[in-house]
Amino acid sequence: MMQVTLWGTRGSIAAPGAETCRYGGNTACVQVCGANGAILVLDAGTGIRRLGESLPRSMRRIDILLSHLHMDHIQGLGFFAPLYNPDCEVHIWGPASPTLSLGERLLRYLSPPLFPVRLRDLPCRLVLHEVPCGEFNVGDFHISSAFICHPGPTVGYRIATSHAVLAYLTDHEPALGVPRFPLTKEWTSGYAIAAGADLLLHDAQYSSEEYVRCVGWGHSSLEHAMAFATLAKVKHLVTFHHDPTHPDEDLDRLLAKVLATTTPNFTVTPGREGASFLLGKIDTGRTRTRPLVANKTSRCQRKRHPRAPKRATM
Ligand SMILES: [Zn+2]
Ligand SMILES: [Zn+2]
Repeated sequence: MMQVTLWGTRGSIAAPGAETCRYGGNTACVQVCGANGAILVLDAGTGIRRLGESLPRSMRRIDILLSHLHMDHIQGLGFFAPLYNPDCEVHIWGPASPTLSLGERLLRYLSPPLFPVRLRDLPCRLVLHEVPCGEFNVGDFHISSAFICHPGPTVGYRIATSHAVLAYLTDHEPALGVPRFPLTKEWTSGYAIAAGADLLLHDAQYSSEEYVRCVGWGHSSLEHAMAFATLAKVKHLVTFHHDPTHPDEDLDRLLAKVLATTTPNFTVTPGREGASFLLGKIDTGRTRTRPLVANKTSRCQRKRHPRAPKRATM
C-alpha cells in the first residue's frame, strides 16, 4: 500500500488567491505514506508547512527527497516542524552538484540574511545525502533516482513498494532539443524513472502555445506530459507544477482541449492540493490506483490533522 497526498502543486512561485483556490497555490510538496508508517516528503515547497503541522510529534524519522534546489522546491523547508524536534531524525536527500555540497547549497538559503536559523543550528538530528547514489531503501520504500532535463542538477525519483510504483518528475523538459517528441525511450530523459509506473506526477506547466515561447526553461506542456506518459506506459498521470498565472478555469480548459483530440489509455488528473491517491494491491491481486475523496482523512494524518488542506493559505 502507498498513499500519496498532494500538499502543493504550483510551480515557480506560490500563487494563493481566489482564482487558484480549487487546485491550490502552494508550491511543490507531496507526502508518501507506506504500510509500515514510514513517511517520505517529496520537495519542500510552501506546502510543506501544513504537512509538518499534521505530523505527530512522536515521529522519530522522516525523509525529505528534494528534486532540486530551485526556490519553489525549498522555500518551505525552514518552516517544517520536525526540523525543530530534537527527538526527530530528518534525512534530506538531494542532487549532487560539481561545485558545492548539498549542505553548502542549502545553507545559502538557510542562513542569515535570508533565514534567521542556520542549517547546523536546527535542533533535529539532520542527515544529508547526495543523489543519485544507487538505489536505497527507506522503510518499505525502494527508491531510485536519476538526473533529468532541467536547468541545474535535478533528479526524478522512482519510489516502489512490493505492490506499487510512484514516479515523481516535477520539473522536467524531456522535449528539449528533440525535433519530434517523443523519440525512442532510450533517448528520453526520465524514461527509466517513469516506466510502467502506477502513478506519475509530471510537470505540465504550459499550454503548447506557451511552450514555444519558453523552450529551454525546463518545463513541459500538457501535451508533452501526456506524450511522455504514453511512452512510459504509466497507468495514471497527475499533472503537476501548474503555472502560477493559470487560474483554476485555465487548468480545466487546457485539459479539456487536449482530451478533445487525444484519447490516452491512462487516467489523467490535474494535481489538486489536498488530493490523495491510494496505490497498491487489492485482494484479487490486481494493482489499483484509486483517487481518494479529496480532503478525506488519510491514515498517516489522522492523529493531529483530520483534514487535508482545502485551499492554499500562505
Ligand atoms: Zn519548480
Ligand atoms: Zn526548477
